[in-house]
Amino acid sequence: MQWNILAQALSVGKDNFVKCPHDALSWDIRRLRIIESILDVLPDILCLQEVDHYLFLEEVLSTVGYVGNFCPKPDSPCLYTDNSNGPDGCAAFYRSDKFEEIQRHNFVLRADGTETNQVCATVTLKCKSSGKSFSVGVTHLKAKYGWDDLRHKQGVYMLSYLHKNLPASSALILCGDFNAEPTEQVHKACLESPLGLKSAYAVNSENGIMEPAYTTWKIRGGATEEEDVEVCRTIDYIWYTEKSLKVTALKEFPTGDEIGAERVPSYAYPSDHFSLAADFKFL
Ligand code: NDP
Ligand code: CA
Repeated sequence: MQWNILAQALSVGKDNFVKCPHDALSWDIRRLRIIESILDVLPDILCLQEVDHYLFLEEVLSTVGYVGNFCPKPDSPCLYTDNSNGPDGCAAFYRSDKFEEIQRHNFVLRADGTETNQVCATVTLKCKSSGKSFSVGVTHLKAKYGWDDLRHKQGVYMLSYLHKNLPASSALILCGDFNAEPTEQVHKACLESPLGLKSAYAVNSENGIMEPAYTTWKIRGGATEEEDVEVCRTIDYIWYTEKSLKVTALKEFPTGDEIGAERVPSYAYPSDHFSLAADFKFL
């Protein structure tokens, strides 16, 4: 399962979700909705972005058998908000009844030879039933329009790092909020990397290459209501190594009618991103 859960510290201020009722954004409500959404899927592997309440998630998810690995952003924007609970970052959880952890490794993404403010968290796991191993990566690339070039550089660095540092024989599942639509260079970089990655949703689309219509759908406030901006786009992905894994099922996205005219977040959907989920089998 891949999900940008929306950092609590960003949700109530900076993000400016004007159509979302204020109390739907309260952490007391949202944290239960987030847990509910995760347990609804009950994934073997859970990859999250914008986690600024890792200890809460770890405490709750550990009661149902999950073990987590959290990598905070070096200089998270959450730290500069009034209701900061610490830095946000990426987290990978796995079910310890199904997998044995072989290693975990977190790294900061570099571009032009220097560290950026984005990270990748990884765990390498051995499947207890089959004995096969695989790695999981979770990332959240630089946000916002105009930063395509940085996202591309971050992606190229991450792919090369994973290629060099993960066990060569093992399968890889790379989940993330790439903040990049399928037309961006970083999407192409994933497809062309020596890791041999495919995008789970695209492979299983009608023509085998089409990404979903949206993975995030929100309305941000403008100076006046007429200037509110509706953003509906596809920027989250589940990549996997084609030679070692096959997708057998995908979770569907809610329709526009189900989402409602005010889009998300909302009482029903606690984040401005929808979750993605894929079933895999080893080839
Ligand atoms: P990013 O630019 O990658 O984005 C940070 C977060 O903002 C993401 O979670 C992103 O969500 C969200 N976001 C995207 N678009 C918007 C938008 N239009 N309005 C509000 N939020 C949005 O963060 P960086 O790590 O590069 O940090 C840069 C930002 O952090 C700066 O712009 C600054 O505001 C803040 N910062 C401030 C510091 C300071 O005050 N001294 C120091 C460090 C950071 P998503 O990925 O879902 O789109
Ligand atoms: Ca966000």
